[in-house]
Amino acid sequence: MNMMTLVINFAYVISAILFIFGLKMLSSPATARRGNLVSAQGMLLAIVVTLLYTGLDFKWIALGVVVGSVIGLVAAYKVKMTSMPEMVALFNGFGGIASLLLAWSEYHQNVDLTTFIALVTFLSAFIGGVTFSGSMVAFGKLSELISSKAVVFKGQHLVNGAILLTAVGGGVLFAADPAAGYTFFLVVVGVALIFGVTSVIPIGGADMPVVISLLNSYSGIAACAAGFVINNNILIVAGALVGASGIILTKIMCKAMNRSLGNVLFSGFGATTQAAGSGPQGEAKPASAEDVYYILEAADSVAFVPGYGLAVAQAQHVVRELGELLEANDTEVQYAIHPVAGRMPGHMNVLLAEANVSYDQLVEMDDINPKMDTIDVCVVIGANDVVNPAALDDESSPIYGMPIIETHRAKTVIVLKRSMNPGFAGIQNALFFYPNTRMYFGDAKASIQALVAEFKGAE
Ligand code: NDP
Repeated sequence: MNMMTLVINFAYVISAILFIFGLKMLSSPATARRGNLVSAQGMLLAIVVTLLYTGLDFKWIALGVVVGSVIGLVAAYKVKMTSMPEMVALFNGFGGIASLLLAWSEYHQNVDLTTFIALVTFLSAFIGGVTFSGSMVAFGKLSELISSKAVVFKGQHLVNGAILLTAVGGGVLFAADPAAGYTFFLVVVGVALIFGVTSVIPIGGADMPVVISLLNSYSGIAACAAGFVINNNILIVAGALVGASGIILTKIMCKAMNRSLGNVLFSGFGATTQAAGSGPQGEAKPASAEDVYYILEAADSVAFVPGYGLAVAQAQHVVRELGELLEANDTEVQYAIHPVAGRMPGHMNVLLAEANVSYDQLVEMDDINPKMDTIDVCVVIGANDVVNPAALDDESSPIYGMPIIETHRAKTVIVLKRSMNPGFAGIQNALFFYPNTRMYFGDAKASIQALVAEFKGAE
């Protein structure tokens, strides 16, 4: 190993350490921004030292850096917080296609293709291709360019199984004789692109965050394989880190919904929606802004429970304002966060952070549930499935076993939503008919603005 290679690999070790510390810091909202910066520094170092390799064509690299940076900068400034999942889908897809193209180009560059290199070339191209086309479908569903409903048909698993078998067969034949196996390689690429589409269409729009996290993991594994193809240590390490963290996140999300990954990927959840009229029935008690104001004004402790409707209404800023007014009225204010409230992991944390809600006021589900009986008022804002008591006591419910924020145990529950319509799981919510629940109908932002006006009017 010459001196330069030694320096490069030493810098790669530092980069890997920065990546790992960065990832660790991302696990808490208080350190997440710094974590992102630390990881970015690791990436910058990795890129700079990679440029020290001899024999690089700088004109193409410069072009790539300029075009990529401009697109990245514009996208980062323009993209709305609510469109983050789509943006991540695109990032994953581009990661996947990069690995595929790298494997493809190396096939033509590398004169001495061993079986091992052929195998990792196949893996990089196949997983990269699946990630690319799967992510494009995910992007289309999330941005509603295509229908976000699960597309299911008879024999779907058989078709997918046959496609997968063809890819594995093509890969084996290619690895057996890489020099003569270019046609097999092309078959693998084509099949990978088809498989990405056919494996993502059966998944409903609201399950996309789980799939994106999985595709993120795939993009990491593809990059790791690509690292072996070009024998680049930091690509192997970074790819493995992305692959492992993506799979861990996927597992956390499935656990928070009490569903297996198989159920998310293959069940077509959300393809059919139960009619709002079915399920628990009863009489919901509506409340006006004035009624809710009097309840809140008299409360010693209030917990806001945000859900997807908060994001739809973009009500985070007015909620923070209402929280401040309550605090000024000597009420203890907390925000109870369910791990899968909304449509992406950390959705509620991101929205509330954007509105400058203090991190100390955010309470996780497992911490708020034990003290739920002591809370005077739970204000459920556009959340539905994540507060549905059927998850605890109705074995026939599709969400049975999913951990929920047990708002029904609070002294009073105020539910803000526009109608009696069900949430993502398509089931009616027994909470709405509990004796301690009042329904405050309307768009969440307008409803909370009305409460803010009541509080200000009373000042
Ligand atoms: P839900 O989809 O269950 O409910 C959202 C509620 O918000 C609806 O009932 C809707 O009622 C209401 N709403 C919509 N727009 C507004 C508005 N403008 N103003 C007021 N209310 C509004 O959301 P939850 O957050 O409770 O649950 C998330 C669901 O998504 C769970 O089932 C979870 O498993 C699933 N999921 C989450 C993932 C994640 O990563 N976070 C991943 C995959 C799935 P109405 O129309 O009457 O207003």
